[in-house]
Amino acid sequence: MKNYSLVYSPVGGAGEIGMNMYAYGFKAQNKVSYILVDAGVSFPKVDTEPGVDLIFPNPKLILDNLSDLEGIFITHAHEDHLGAIGFIASKIDCKIYCRKFTAEIVKDKLNKVNVSNKRVVTVKEWPFEVKLKNASVSFFPTTHSVPEASFLIIKSKFGVILHTGDFKIDNNPILDNPIDYKKLGNALGGRPSLCVVDSTNMLNENKGKSESLLKESIYKIINQSKGRIVFTSFASNLGRLKIIADAGEKSGRSIAVFGRAMNNMLSKAIETGVLTHFPNLIDPRKAHLIPRENLLVIATGSQGEIRAASAQLSRGKYMGLEIQDGDTFVFSSKTIPGNEIAVNRVINNLSEKGVAVIYSDDREFHVSGHTNIPEMMEFYKKIKPMLVVPMHGEIRHLIGHKKILEEKKIRAEIVRNGEIVEIDKDLNVRKDSSNKPEKLFVDGKIIAKSDNIAFRERTRMSSEGLVVILITYRKVKKSLNVKFTSFGLPRFEDYSDELKSNAEIYLNKTAKKKDRNKLDEFERFIKEDIYSICGKKPIIKIAEMEL
Ligand SMILES: [Zn+2]
Repeated sequence: MKNYSLVYSPVGGAGEIGMNMYAYGFKAQNKVSYILVDAGVSFPKVDTEPGVDLIFPNPKLILDNLSDLEGIFITHAHEDHLGAIGFIASKIDCKIYCRKFTAEIVKDKLNKVNVSNKRVVTVKEWPFEVKLKNASVSFFPTTHSVPEASFLIIKSKFGVILHTGDFKIDNNPILDNPIDYKKLGNALGGRPSLCVVDSTNMLNENKGKSESLLKESIYKIINQSKGRIVFTSFASNLGRLKIIADAGEKSGRSIAVFGRAMNNMLSKAIETGVLTHFPNLIDPRKAHLIPRENLLVIATGSQGEIRAASAQLSRGKYMGLEIQDGDTFVFSSKTIPGNEIAVNRVINNLSEKGVAVIYSDDREFHVSGHTNIPEMMEFYKKIKPMLVVPMHGEIRHLIGHKKILEEKKIRAEIVRNGEIVEIDKDLNVRKDSSNKPEKLFVDGKIIAKSDNIAFRERTRMSSEGLVVILITYRKVKKSLNVKFTSFGLPRFEDYSDELKSNAEIYLNKTAKKKDRNKLDEFERFIKEDIYSICGKKPIIKIAEMEL
């Protein structure tokens, strides 16, 4: 390798949708200085990660080189790009760079874990540059489904890097401006050596749709509805919220926003000026007083979250408002894989009330915030990268992305979570695949690795139940007593006496052989006994007591 090279390692995001976190190292004369890009979370799978609140990747490479870390850069305000910033910042003391709206969301995350806000550095967009020891970083505005999404343009003696974050090429966006290619060309100053690019929609061959195309259909449905109309969408999709609210205002309806996350996002966007001319809102507590035909509600909970406003409305009342027969409920969102059961529960509850539910995937009321293949190819034609590393996607998305690039004779390299590559100025790539990525699980107030949370035990407990056995030995009387307590086993009382009597006979027999403490064998006996009687394999806990 030559004197100057680049170290790149995805910590998370290059193997899943979510958990975005990427480490860049700038090597000059064998000394490396690092930055971390994004600090995202993902959400647990109900079947294999029960009970967990959040998951984020462990940035081992950065933790091993803390004194050489120069900052964390956040591309945009989505949870899968900044949701872990509180946890990361409480472990890693460095500056956090982001644009003004994103900065407010980051500060919220830091407040929650009592980390000082002072570390957050609000930066302006390109041509402003954050100067580091061996590199400079600037934020270049792009379009996505949250305001202020940014490309990072990273310049070092290795060459120019374009890290896209999440983006969609939208020539008619609602809040931000379309990508200014002339400006981008100036910012890059020629062909970038490396582009690290969003792969989320790189299996989608359809032409992408602009956010503004939704205006008409959203206005139409609101205008046609006779009763109340409720929209649910992602709280951070402020452009969408504006389309819905504008349409509501145009139809002469009062507008109420239900849900803390959405109200918080809206007030931060208005305060920082990224959202302007937003229609006036009514106090959500007074929404139930508005005549049905005059009310539009925008609510959180598009993923069926059990405590969110949409789920509460589907079960009964929210802030005194009950929706009913003749009202309309629109999902202006996509159901994220894994959330189908929760979303269907909300849809069924609403349907039972007689509410007309619109949730079709026909894209009349929702468009994606990521770039599909046709627009991505246009993008590459303009940017002409020398090397592309696909990021943010499951393995199938990364591989699909690479395949398309190769068809177009664009060089691409897949780098998976945990892998570390060193790329020299001539774009020779050396890969170290010996590091395995590690996930950390937020479980209440504890953060632990998966083996520590013992998911298998939790899963087994939830499907097989738990049996606690207390053996009491009475020394004086030379007798023993066994007590069974069960959790999660139906009609346990029907056979608990039989279990007790079998256990006591077994123990009395072995006791004569002075083998009382061989609990392993006793546990095996109990397991078999329970299985032969009820056909279940609960977790068994045995305690002994001597009187
Ligand atoms: Zn995003």
